[in-house]
Amino acid sequence: MTRSEKLTETICRNAYRVGLSEIGNVDISGLEYEDWVRDFCKNGCKSYNSSWACPPAVGTLDECRERCQQYGHMMLFDRCYTLKGSFDSIGVQNAMSDFKKIVDRFDELISPILSKTLFLTNEGCDRCAECTWPDAPCRFPEKLHHTIEGYGFNITKMARKAGLHYNGGPNTVTFFGAVLYDE
Ligand code: SF4
Repeated sequence: MTRSEKLTETICRNAYRVGLSEIGNVDISGLEYEDWVRDFCKNGCKSYNSSWACPPAVGTLDECRERCQQYGHMMLFDRCYTLKGSFDSIGVQNAMSDFKKIVDRFDELISPILSKTLFLTNEGCDRCAECTWPDAPCRFPEKLHHTIEGYGFNITKMARKAGLHYNGGPNTVTFFGAVLYDE
């Protein structure tokens, strides 16, 4: 097994260790940074323009592309949560927070063994009671995870390419994140 394969195996092992459901490779050169996804953030998400994790703070799609192209590898991951029913909004909120904690833990475990990482995760940032955006720098830049949709990524398409399930079935919610890294 090559060093690269061993590293991939370690990343996957830690993904399952922290409680992620699936993880798969993404080809960075084939990434599509789509305007309509960013428009959806702007017009359909309450987190837009609310923290350093979301657009417009993450920069233009060209800036997101340039940032991603600085990395050699990317893996998409998810976790599927079971809800009490189709109107279980509290369950969705709890799942969203839990996913963020899992991604934090994943970051803590694998970043020390990689030369550099960029983590992307689900909606917004709720680390602080009140975000400093846009008046002052982020309080925890080393822990900041940009939102994956904020980069214009169509998660349905990306999940299919990476071999992950976009939808876990009735009464479930699935959250996605990604890690870009150099060995
Ligand atoms: S860590 Fe705090 S200051 Fe930084 S983006 Fe999140 S909420 Fe805002």
